[in-house]
Amino acid sequence: MSTTLSRQRPQCSSVYGPVKSWRFGRSLGIDPIGSVSTCSFSCVYCQLGKIQHMTTERQVFVPTSQILDDLRAIMPLQQTDVVTLSGSGEPTLALNLEKILAVVKKVTRLPTVVLTNSTLLHDATVRSALKLADTVAAKLDAISSNQLQQINRPVATINLPGILEGIEQFRQEYQGHLAIQTMVLSSWTPDMLEDYIQILQRLKPDEIQLNIPSRPRVLVRQLEARGNDNLQSPPYLFQNLKCVSTDILASLATQIHDAINIPVNYPAMSL
Ligand code: SF4
Repeated sequence: MSTTLSRQRPQCSSVYGPVKSWRFGRSLGIDPIGSVSTCSFSCVYCQLGKIQHMTTERQVFVPTSQILDDLRAIMPLQQTDVVTLSGSGEPTLALNLEKILAVVKKVTRLPTVVLTNSTLLHDATVRSALKLADTVAAKLDAISSNQLQQINRPVATINLPGILEGIEQFRQEYQGHLAIQTMVLSSWTPDMLEDYIQILQRLKPDEIQLNIPSRPRVLVRQLEARGNDNLQSPPYLFQNLKCVSTDILASLATQIHDAINIPVNYPAMSL
């Protein structure tokens, strides 16, 4: 798809991009959440800014028929590698997740990716819907309850043991590519690294993605922040977050890879 076409698309479309992703290539975004940012977390680094509606309650936010119409309006696709469900919050909160994935696969015939914060993986209906995705990238930023509160700031009913049990259960059932995505916000102590490696041994992902908050964080809700593409100067108030150096990421990646022999990817290079 050309940039020109994407600019002509109505801003309220549930389809955006494609945006360049170091993890997935040129990624067409599907937003199953819509105008009000909605998530079970309110991460300190979230590019959407402060989450407007924090919940664990699933509902239909954007009708599947609207997503189908928005997708058909931009066909045929060009220069797109994958279709990613993410957008304005946590995609597994969308009750029509399975239908959306089915529609996306049928219309685009491209690999599908779901970026999830892992908080609803304890729900068998969510796990079942996610089986339609070719890749699921499950967030795991915290290795202690204290970190969960500080980094992800979840709704009160969410806790780290529940998140880990959900990912573990999903791994047992899911045949697709499971990536654990971890935002690295500072250097880790040796104890933190050891705890992280132990958790990964339990979760058995196919890949580990170490990430940094390279996208600007909006200060006031903007729908277009869902797809901001490493913009240097977005046309709204934003904050650039401090990122750890590539050397720190590289060192972590090497130690993790050496310990468990699972591919570790991070911006700039991979192991
Ligand atoms: S889980 Fe994702 S959408 Fe939700 S607050 Fe964190 S970064 Fe934002």
